[in-house]
Amino acid sequence: MNFVESQERTALRRAVAELGAKYGNEYFVAKARAGEKTTELWEEAGKLGYLGVAVPEEYGGGGGGIGDLAAVCEELAAAGCPLLLMVVSPAICATVIARFGTGEQRSKWLPGFADGTLKMAFAITEPDAGSNSHRLRTHVRRDGDGWVLNGSKTYISGIDEVDAVLVVSVLETGPVLVVVPTNAEGLTHHRIEMDLLSPEKQFTLFFDDVRLPADAVVGAPDQGLLQVFAGLNPERIMGASMATGSARLAMSKAVAYARQRQVWDTPIGAHQGLSHPLAKIHIEIELARLMTQKAAALYDGGRDREAGEAANMAKYAAGEAIAAAVDQAIQVHGGNGLTAEFGLASMLGMSRLSRIAPVSREMVLNFVAQNSLKLPRSY
Ligand SMILES: Cc1cc2nc3c(=O)[nH]c(=O)nc-3n(C[C@H](O)[C@H](O)[C@H](O)COP(=O)(O)OP(=O)(O)OC[C@H]3O[C@@H](n4cnc5c(N)ncnc54)[C@H](O)[C@@H]3O)c2cc1C
Repeated sequence: MNFVESQERTALRRAVAELGAKYGNEYFVAKARAGEKTTELWEEAGKLGYLGVAVPEEYGGGGGGIGDLAAVCEELAAAGCPLLLMVVSPAICATVIARFGTGEQRSKWLPGFADGTLKMAFAITEPDAGSNSHRLRTHVRRDGDGWVLNGSKTYISGIDEVDAVLVVSVLETGPVLVVVPTNAEGLTHHRIEMDLLSPEKQFTLFFDDVRLPADAVVGAPDQGLLQVFAGLNPERIMGASMATGSARLAMSKAVAYARQRQVWDTPIGAHQGLSHPLAKIHIEIELARLMTQKAAALYDGGRDREAGEAANMAKYAAGEAIAAAVDQAIQVHGGNGLTAEFGLASMLGMSRLSRIAPVSREMVLNFVAQNSLKLPRSY
């Protein structure tokens, strides 16, 4: 067992942190407030190979694993640039296509994931299914050589800036994953107005007799369930990484402020009413990071089942850690915590998001209760 990251991973973190610092949280917030995208950052991260770090080398990627991609995501978030699309495009979509796609699908899609020139959204959530993926209604049927897709998805991030969307749909045999170009006839989208400060927007999608070619279904149609599970573990690991990165940012602001702000005879950080919560949250962030790294190591080691449990636990711990970190960082700052200048209140929405998506806190607890503890289920 080794708790020390490799030299390569450490160097990767350092390089990505430098890139993140070049842009920073002010850039990210300004883009979000202006309703603009963080395109320059995405393109530069792509050119430098950071977005494609987990894509196999033969397709132009770095040949690393989810652990490397999660490190990229965490460091960008820690620099104030949490990129929601990193959780879906290079993590779920590229991973599923690399693992399960046909040779042609891999050649078609992976080079674009490798340099970040291709972005793909991921759509599983449905208006009437929500957390219950057994109730998915979006379905494909065969039509000659191809497929026809009908249904609806909701809260899909970034459909306005991607080339295609990987849709979890249902066939008689079970779930299948289909790649739908965003310009496909019959695909429409409506933006959901969110009170969440983020450059990436959320959408409801409608598929109305969308005709797709034979190769739209990823890999073999009967492997869909396996593919969904294989994609959801990286999603949870990435969600956890984004949360721990953002939690580190909130904590660094809180600690810096607590060291220098003085309203009595000592800096406010000397008061245990502030220092103890900060110490506790620091521990919680480090525990969440450790579990995230464990989940990534299990996943990259091909141990999907154990990775599933660890990824869920990491996601839970990270979601709790960031919610506590942002809340406490605001508290430490007093009135300044709610100003635009100190950049903490703008993190509130994102800090709550980590308890809801990509999987809610309650569904993780259900998973652990039923799978780890073998308790009976209520639903
Ligand atoms: C900003 C944002 C971005 C998103 N991006 C994407 C995306 O790109 N692609 C995508 O597919 N989805 C995306 N989602 C959707 C996200 O994954 C869902 O919101 C999440 O899975 C919860 O589903 P729901 O909102 O339908 O809540 P519901 O399923 O309606 O749940 C509501 C509440 O009930 C609780 N609950 C439900 N069932 C149980 C139970 N059995 N036991 C205990 N509690 C329960 C839930 O935990 C939750 O607290 C995004 C969501 C947001 C907010």
